[in-house]
Amino acid sequence: MENKVKNFATLLNCMDGRTQLPALNWIRSNYDVEYVDIISEPGMDKVIYLNDKNFMNSLGKKINISLNSHNSRIIFIAGHYDCAANKVDKAIHIKHIKSSVDIIKKIYKNVPVVGLWMGESFKVEKI
Ligand SMILES: [Zn+2]
Repeated sequence: MENKVKNFATLLNCMDGRTQLPALNWIRSNYDVEYVDIISEPGMDKVIYLNDKNFMNSLGKKINISLNSHNSRIIFIAGHYDCAANKVDKAIHIKHIKSSVDIIKKIYKNVPVVGLWMGESFKVEKI
């Protein structure tokens, strides 16, 4: 049975304009999600990995709006190729994304958290 409630997801993404539509379309194609709340920051995978208290407090307020007001039930964290704010190779991006997933999972224990990687063609891969 199709759920008539329009489901939300939460996407923690880079601000890079090349990453928005690929991530949004991939999430809508692969999950039962109609709307994607996008919280963006240059080099999102790196800044969550660095886990700065002030940044995380600000991020947490935004995530809470998505979870509590929109009833988002899943959080995605994306990193991408050629990131101006996180100029590292793919292996380090993957490490940052995985660490970010672990950090966010510890805060939101009942919410699934999924890491995404967008490579040179900006095709989305679940990691
Ligand atoms: Zn970027």
